[in-house]
Amino acid sequence: MNTQKLFDLSGNVALVTGGNGGIGRAIAIGLAESGASVAILGRNKEKNQSVLAELKTIGNPAIAITIDLTNREDLKPTIKTIEETLGPISILVNNAGNVSLSGGILNETPDDWDNVIETQLNSVFLLSKHVGESMIKQKRGKIINIGSMYSFFGSGLIPSYAAAKGAIIQLTKSTAIEFAPNNIQVNAIAPGWFETDMTAPVKTMPLNDEIIARTPAGRWGQTEELAGTAVFLASKASDFITGETIRVDGGYSIF
Ligand code: NDP
Repeated sequence: MNTQKLFDLSGNVALVTGGNGGIGRAIAIGLAESGASVAILGRNKEKNQSVLAELKTIGNPAIAITIDLTNREDLKPTIKTIEETLGPISILVNNAGNVSLSGGILNETPDDWDNVIETQLNSVFLLSKHVGESMIKQKRGKIINIGSMYSFFGSGLIPSYAAAKGAIIQLTKSTAIEFAPNNIQVNAIAPGWFETDMTAPVKTMPLNDEIIARTPAGRWGQTEELAGTAVFLASKASDFITGETIRVDGGYSIF
């Protein structure tokens, strides 16, 4: 047995949604540094190009595609483009996310609700379905869904986000059961508080002090601290793990 080789992702093609954002970028770079060819998806062309330039310095083939994941009809053609350019996708990281800081369901508009559910949950279903078809043909694959500590907790501030992230855990388990006979593992990562554009507003809110006090590690996470878990779940080292959710949160969700 060569344990180190288990983590070698050479010969894999990874798709990372939201790969131009804080956590997605760190995961995309981690997968590329471990040997995978990487495609990133996001709406912002400039941010896509910036991360693509970083990926290209690592040396494996990489592409960035500008797409809004809420446009369902664009998903299948995008997968086709990636597979024609890089080869069959064997690693799917459903990471793209948004949040509606509505303050509760009385204030949340149906449009905001729909947008969060479409981005955070429906795109995970649709991409798992479309990429899953390709993985089944390959008889291998890894799907990694990004949940949250709000996969476990309710939230009066961000109810649509918590609803979507709670559902991610159950979708992960259901997909894991269905795909396991085809040697496809489906797992989730539940990040704690990480410094990214999404959480930047929180740094100036009183909530910031509560986060530090409640997190046993006593600090926010840095996005690079998530990449290793994603590489593990994308690698042969995790071939007998499926339907699991790994918390990477400095202990925030222990209590
Ligand atoms: P960022 O805001 O840094 O990144 C979000 C990413 O999602 C961006 O790349 C953005 O690209 C992409 N995105 C959003 N909406 C769409 C869309 N409609 N179509 C395509 N791409 C889209 O946030 P994070 O890195 O923090 O978040 C990444 C994931 O981690 C999310 O699922 C989030 O819920 C989760 N998470 C984050 C935590 C944290 O503390 N940061 C904690 C727990 C979970 P673009 O702007 O180009 O559209």
